[in-house]
Amino acid sequence: MLVTMSRTASHRLVDGSPFFLSLAFKLSLSIFLIASVLLSSLGIYYIRSFAAEIDKNLYLRAQIPGGLISKGLLPRSQVSDREMLSELVGEEVLFAAISRPDGVILFSTDSEREGLSAEDFRYTIPSTNPLLIQEGTAVTHYPKKGEKVLYISTSLYASDGWSGNLYMKISTADTALQKNQIATGFVVGFSLCIGLITIAGAWLLHGMTAKRFRSTVACLSAVEQGDLEIRIVQAKSMDELGVLARGVNHMVGELKKQRGEQERLGTELSRAKETAEKSSRSKSEFLANMSHEIRTPMNGVLGMAQLMKDTPLSSEQGEYVEAISSSADSLLKIINNILDLSRIELGKFQLNNASVDLCALLEELKLFFTPAVEEKGLELRFDYPSSLPLVRTDEGSLRQVLINLIANAVKFTEQGHVEVVVELLGKTGNECTLAFRVRDTGLGMTKEAQESIFQEFSQVDGSHTRAHGGSGLGLAISQKLVEQFGGKLTVSSEPGRGSEFAFNLTVDMEEGGREQLAKAAGEAGVENFDLDVLLVEDNKLNQRVITRILEKMGCRIDLAENGLEAIQRIQHEEYSRYAMIFMDIQMPVLDGLKATAMIRAQEREGHRTPIVAITAHAMKGDREKFIEAGMDDYLSKPVRREDLVTVLKRFC
Ligand code: ADP
Repeated sequence: MLVTMSRTASHRLVDGSPFFLSLAFKLSLSIFLIASVLLSSLGIYYIRSFAAEIDKNLYLRAQIPGGLISKGLLPRSQVSDREMLSELVGEEVLFAAISRPDGVILFSTDSEREGLSAEDFRYTIPSTNPLLIQEGTAVTHYPKKGEKVLYISTSLYASDGWSGNLYMKISTADTALQKNQIATGFVVGFSLCIGLITIAGAWLLHGMTAKRFRSTVACLSAVEQGDLEIRIVQAKSMDELGVLARGVNHMVGELKKQRGEQERLGTELSRAKETAEKSSRSKSEFLANMSHEIRTPMNGVLGMAQLMKDTPLSSEQGEYVEAISSSADSLLKIINNILDLSRIELGKFQLNNASVDLCALLEELKLFFTPAVEEKGLELRFDYPSSLPLVRTDEGSLRQVLINLIANAVKFTEQGHVEVVVELLGKTGNECTLAFRVRDTGLGMTKEAQESIFQEFSQVDGSHTRAHGGSGLGLAISQKLVEQFGGKLTVSSEPGRGSEFAFNLTVDMEEGGREQLAKAAGEAGVENFDLDVLLVEDNKLNQRVITRILEKMGCRIDLAENGLEAIQRIQHEEYSRYAMIFMDIQMPVLDGLKATAMIRAQEREGHRTPIVAITAHAMKGDREKFIEAGMDDYLSKPVRREDLVTVLKRFC
């Protein structure tokens, strides 16, 4: 049997294994064992038969002297001639004696015994030889096992009426030697036969099977290494190996077909995955761009509404402004959610870790939600140890997650309570693990609903959603944010009984503790800045919002529409006049990054005006880009009053 083999196919299974593990060896061993058992049994049988025959001959020969004496052919007195008796028997006669029926010895090879009684011969025993019994003439006895002598007693009946007994002690050394020689001959002969049968059997087996096995194994080894082109040729024989070879060929063929199919599916799958990823990416990019574009004018709408609230308004106008403000606020929240989600999906989100006082954060959340909770007649419980450590984490993201969870709990609970529990699970080194749980006694959810709520835009029940509002984004964002923290947001809920959302956070503990935070907080007082500020911003609404906020804080504002105008302004002014430059990034004519780089290049030594970027799209890596261009920090749009206060305090 031959096999078409690739170069990679190996004979590892046949050639690499020790011979004693091979099938040929095992089969040969079987032949050896069978031949050994059969031939040994045969050998033993023949050896015993031959030995019995030799013994029988000896008995017969041992009776010759007695027979001759009975027939009168040998005189009784001749019994003392040992040599003559030995000649007749064919073995050395060691002792012989003739006795009368009364037991008195007449003649003996040992003359001293003549005239004595034969009673003391211990070998007068019953015969065990049927032949001898029949003749009634002799009995034999082997007194000790291994003793090479034969005792024989023969009854003598002479024709003249005389009767007596002939006793002989015969050496059986020659008989034993003869038996040994025959046994040795048999053993050698049968051993040779066993050896020859084994070798011949092994040779035949090897010829008939080993080569064919090797081809099959080599084929399987090649298949194992991935070669599916290989086949066993000459697989036509009708024996088991032929069937095996055809089976292997069929199996390899099937494997090849399956592999082809798998490869086709794999290619289709990766193409589909690529397309899906591409379209998901385009979707995220589109959403990020759109929400960014919408955010800027929304920021203007919100800011203007805010400013309008501070002007004298009729009560009707006040209501309208309030409506504008709250609609714009809701819209901005949705847009912010979409932007956050897109950023996370695009991998452009990064945690801004800083010192966080969890107790203060939880207190703030409690205050924030109290009015809504009271309005619904619910109870709001906050349960956390006052000794929670100061930690380093992204406060904004953590707040966002908790707000989403608490807002949902309040939204979907009609009676009972909403409970926020924070536990310190443990500390290891500089790290601690905190467990956050938000429970409610509200609507609850079915198991199926629980599986889908973390997907974007998923809401359990349209009717509730209409009743409660929402976009189905909150939990998706919360889940992604918790994942950014290295945790997992889980839900357990029962319809009609309430829900519990939980996640664990492992965060670094802040060194220095609360004192440091208290000090920082103490420094924040009433904001009144007497500063000259240059605002570089092309969007009119943003110009007005930021200008008004800064002016209300006591700042004097100069405006530049773009980067080039900002540079021109600075060239005409004393450098030191501006305590701060707020610089938009995307502007016509000259953008914020280039303008900053040029301002820095022009600056005289010792004069460095802080430049803070104002950007609507701070994505991962942007901070580094801004700092590299010479900026000192950045603020995200919509710019909040507190953020402006923070940077002014930091740099001026
Ligand atoms: P939404 O803006 O609609 O609240 P979320 O992603 O926050 O979006 O929630 C998705 C859905 O999960 C909700 O519409 C609501 O069906 C369900 N859900 C979330 N929180 C709870 C809760 N505490 N109790 C009952 N259902 C909830």
